[in-house]
Amino acid sequence: MDLFTVTDVATGRGTLQYREECLTGLRCRISPERLKRHIDQTLKIPDTSESCPFCRENIFSITPTFPDGNRIIRGESVTFPNMFPFAEWHTVTVITRDHTVPAFTKQQIIDALQAQAESLLLSDGYPSINWNYLPSAGASIVHPHMQGIADQRPSWITERYLSAGKEYHAKTGNRYWDVVREQERSSDRYLFGDEILWSAHAVPVGEREVRGLLPVARLDEVENYIDSLAEGILEVISLYKKLGTYAFNMAIFFGREKSKNFSAFCSLVSRINPNPLSTSDSAFMERLHNEPIILTLPEDLGRYYRNEDR
Ligand SMILES: [Zn+2]
Repeated sequence: MDLFTVTDVATGRGTLQYREECLTGLRCRISPERLKRHIDQTLKIPDTSESCPFCRENIFSITPTFPDGNRIIRGESVTFPNMFPFAEWHTVTVITRDHTVPAFTKQQIIDALQAQAESLLLSDGYPSINWNYLPSAGASIVHPHMQGIADQRPSWITERYLSAGKEYHAKTGNRYWDVVREQERSSDRYLFGDEILWSAHAVPVGEREVRGLLPVARLDEVENYIDSLAEGILEVISLYKKLGTYAFNMAIFFGREKSKNFSAFCSLVSRINPNPLSTSDSAFMERLHNEPIILTLPEDLGRYYRNEDR
């Protein structure tokens, strides 16, 4: 059973691939030739530490508290409700004490993920844990922070996988996520891990999309896996760094019911580095057509990781 389709189209300078994920209908175009344009930008992080609301001198006076009057404190992290929510329940976890850090420690990520989980379990909506890192990835504040959202209706991607996974099971008798695990493990896209299986996604929604597939569906089941989840996230971030990109987006999608037909997964995509001209990596195909132009073949990313690191 094919999980995705590939249609090759010859262009003047090479081959363009149209890919489609069979379960969801997600589509993208992969054009490895475009890598040769070298539009990479040298990292330039703006200095915004002055008047940052997430720095220690401001955070406890500027940020709001939960209804009980408290913020969630775990290690260095501080968690509170978002002042400008775009979800029924929207929380922010400031990950580090420092405004910027050269690299995240495992403990910082563990504390932030645990605090996010704790804050999201105060709601009964469909939760996700999200992270925009650096302004070119959409972060309006440079100080590293994760955002948890939960709504009665899941976001589009979660809803699509939930309903299509149910249909898939009814049609084939198989659990979609078991089939994905099996195929990814033995594919060129495989990166690392077993309990949480990390691989370059076959139909990337963004550049170098890597997914970590969890063995559970719901947020209240994730506690025992947070340690290994944090390790995996750091491994992907360091892979991106090795490839020259520092900015990224992350989302961890969870189901809500005791559904056998859903697995929670963590998705990361690398983003263009912050740069003085505001050169962007999102244009009409990404923003209006919902069909991203991808440069890196997922199979190349898998091979690169396994050759460089193992
Ligand atoms: Zn700060």
